[in-house]
Amino acid sequence: MIPTVIALPPPPTLSVRGSAARFPVRRIYCVGRNFADHAKEMGASVDRGNPVFFMKPGDAVVADGGAVPYPPGTRDLHHEVELVVALGRDADGLVDVATALDLVYGYGVGLDLTRRDLQAAAKAKGLPWDTAKGFDHSAPTSELVPVAEAGDVFARRLWLQVNGELRQQSPLQEMVFSVAEVLHELSKLYALKAGDLVFMGTPAGVAALSPGDRFLAGVDGLVELSGHIA
Ligand code: MN
Repeated sequence: MIPTVIALPPPPTLSVRGSAARFPVRRIYCVGRNFADHAKEMGASVDRGNPVFFMKPGDAVVADGGAVPYPPGTRDLHHEVELVVALGRDADGLVDVATALDLVYGYGVGLDLTRRDLQAAAKAKGLPWDTAKGFDHSAPTSELVPVAEAGDVFARRLWLQVNGELRQQSPLQEMVFSVAEVLHELSKLYALKAGDLVFMGTPAGVAALSPGDRFLAGVDGLVELSGHIA
């Protein structure tokens, strides 16, 4: 180990179904406007040739949900339930759509928590989304299900309940850009590596979360994530 002048921070990790070993998180890439119904509710449209990407810091993950603190600096914290893709191998440069899924270690479900008021202000001024998206504890994420146990993920339904009420749901087949297409597009911009997560975008129904709210997110027959806003 290389000596360090301050203590090395512990790496963010996720739990893995069927394993005592954990998945170390490197980067979190997020796809915007990947469901047409959500793009429409945000007053935007889907650009089939031009996916929207943004990032969260790796240590924004909240493993296995649980207590998620209400963040400072907002009065409008929104939920966005999303399929989470975890990469288990480094890409060798540009990723081909045909072989992109070979990079995938497993799948989970997560919340892309969003300070919607800050995002709206940033959009209005043409400013970056970082404070709206990349804050502490902004990525509660389930355990990961390794691909061998995940079955046909893309035939499944993504959903979110808040306090027992269904808020968001969509077949994953409604995604505008598939996982393979997203990995291809991301690889034009970044060197994708093992440990990277990709949040695949959210369907319609985004809305506010308040302290005390309980969330239950899932991909049917695959994985669930539960927790509450503290
Ligand atoms: Mn999102």
